[in-house]
Amino acid sequence: MFLTGTMQINTQGHLEIGGIDALQLVEKFGTPLWVIDEEGFRRNCRRFKEAFSSWGDVLVAYAGKSLSNVAICKIVAQEGLGLDVVSGGELYTALQAEFPPERIIFHGNNKDQEEIRMALQVGVGRIVVDNFHELDLLNSIAGEMRCRADIMLRVTPGVEAHTHEYIQTGQIDTKFGFTLPDGQALEGVGAALNSPNLNLTGLHCHIGSQIFDMDSFRHATNLMMEFTAQIQEKTGHEMADLDIGGGFGIYYAEGDKPTYPEEWAEAVMTTVQEKARLYGLRVPRVIIEPGRAISGPAGITLYTVGSFKEVTGVRKYVAVDGGMADNIRLALYNAEYSALLANKADQPPAEIVSVAGKCCESGDMLIWDIELPQVEPGDILAVFATGAYNYAMSSNYNRLPRPAMVLVNQGSADLILKRETYADIIRNDMVPERLRNE
Ligand SMILES: *Cc1c(COP(=O)(O)O)cnc(C)c1O
Repeated sequence: MFLTGTMQINTQGHLEIGGIDALQLVEKFGTPLWVIDEEGFRRNCRRFKEAFSSWGDVLVAYAGKSLSNVAICKIVAQEGLGLDVVSGGELYTALQAEFPPERIIFHGNNKDQEEIRMALQVGVGRIVVDNFHELDLLNSIAGEMRCRADIMLRVTPGVEAHTHEYIQTGQIDTKFGFTLPDGQALEGVGAALNSPNLNLTGLHCHIGSQIFDMDSFRHATNLMMEFTAQIQEKTGHEMADLDIGGGFGIYYAEGDKPTYPEEWAEAVMTTVQEKARLYGLRVPRVIIEPGRAISGPAGITLYTVGSFKEVTGVRKYVAVDGGMADNIRLALYNAEYSALLANKADQPPAEIVSVAGKCCESGDMLIWDIELPQVEPGDILAVFATGAYNYAMSSNYNRLPRPAMVLVNQGSADLILKRETYADIIRNDMVPERLRNE
């Protein structure tokens, strides 16, 4: 179901989130509006942490790329989670939130020198090294800075996870990581162990996103434990960490059947423990990196309905005051969403419509074919599970100012991201002297 966290239909028949009527939020902050349910977000953090910690030493590192700003990083820090960052910008955001650097994991397949220096300077917990070029670069920068970097190697195990199944050797054709099946990963380990300024603490893999299938995780975990054993046998080096990435699927629309964190925990942790026993290894500290599963369900987007277009016998388009600039996921990979009319949340469905954005692209759609009560201009459309990869992937396409984001909790609503203005839109525009009028 798409109502999660503190969302409910109140006695007036309106959508309520964080103890506040969605229409009140609209009145105060306008639309489009990203709304984050603080309690829902925190519950998602705790659920993963508790589910995995009950099996042993586990670090749950929230994948900040799914949704990051200073307030969100503060919440993640308060919940005692770690944090994945993939760029200097995400690292800077975390540091501005006073996120403990030792709980930060730095990812990315092309970190530049400045980003690497920044990561070493602030002392991030782990840098996940993606390729041979980066091994060299990091080793030499760490040498210059007279420090030793704790690293994990990103391994591509050759498990391609789909939402409902996995393909064993499909996914080696990817830009990420050291390939396991062809021996590149073992070579990478050798190179890391020969780098005097690097301390190889473990292995990392991430097999995909929006995954429902536990077998793909079990299988990847198996391969990583097998590789860990192979490394120990060949080099004598013991791996302290095993990071199996994120990708835990969530409910967006009918047909999505999320696996509970407790089930993921059991699948992963029993595999780790069994394989450790089988190969005579010390049980590593396990790291998991859920992004979407924490931030996604905790966010909704509120839009105001505007114009309509009926294509006789084909479909009815209803347009809202946002679109691909604030949610590019349908345009990008055919993502599906659930929605309701926040002001008619208790009314039965009356028609099937398709929700379009206001950008100049035919592909600027938010939802194809959704059942809603009779839709009228001025209605407030609430789209669910937009916490992840919506703001994070947003743009100013068509020079649309980005929406505001509010954090709601127990009846209060606070801005955590100001709505952009037209002045913000031209903030970095420059006009060469020769174009200026006399
Ligand atoms: C994207 C990513 C994640 C998070 O993925 P979700 O689908 O949001 O859980 C975790 N780790 C790595 C390395 C990633 O690239």
